[in-house]
Amino acid sequence: MSVKALNQYLEFLKIAGVQDIFIKSIPIDQEFADNDLLESKKLLLQELSEKYADCQKCELHQGRIKLVYGQGNADAKLMVIGEAPGAEENKSGQAFVGKAGQLLDRQLKAINLTREEIYIANIVKCRPPGNRDPHPVEMEACMPYLQEQIEIIQPQIFLFLGRIAAQALLNTTTSLGRLRLTAHILNGIPAYVTYHPAAVLRFSEYRKPTWEDLQKVRDQYFMLPSKQR
Ligand code: SF4
Repeated sequence: MSVKALNQYLEFLKIAGVQDIFIKSIPIDQEFADNDLLESKKLLLQELSEKYADCQKCELHQGRIKLVYGQGNADAKLMVIGEAPGAEENKSGQAFVGKAGQLLDRQLKAINLTREEIYIANIVKCRPPGNRDPHPVEMEACMPYLQEQIEIIQPQIFLFLGRIAAQALLNTTTSLGRLRLTAHILNGIPAYVTYHPAAVLRFSEYRKPTWEDLQKVRDQYFMLPSKQR
């Protein structure tokens, strides 16, 4: 029985009026349980990425070479969400592998994190032609896949990269310049907003505010307790 199922069972007993439970002492290997959970999450994400590989729910499938489902730690505390794959990602099937991805790696390193510790995904899993912004109807079609990822990973903090991702996820038309000033809540989870690395590469004036945003994420991240099971 998983730790979560055990907790649900104990809650059920409490509601049923059971006052005392006599438990035979059994050594519980929490690390084993955590590894078990991580493997289940990995497997589930892998199965879903294969299931959607031929998705044709929106027009973006027409330019798809590879679906870019997402990658990283299936049990990550931090989930980073961008808007859409680019040309390099479309070829490789991996999220954030071009120049913007390299910058993201450096940004993560600057806040003492690596890709292996976090999970990265986009709102749409197929590349929009010519790197245009994904249309609302395309984001709406693909959003359930992202919601599934969030439910499986159960992050404790979000970082949204760029205006498109932030506005779509926070269901607002507020400018990115204003959104990044405060923390938000999505699904009960704190969410931070910053400039997309591709924009930071183009406009050097975004470097300083992005660094300020990343420091907020770092401070919040390293205060987080271990995930509750
Ligand atoms: S963008 Fe999402 S909804 Fe559209 S075809 Fe690709 S996987 Fe399907």
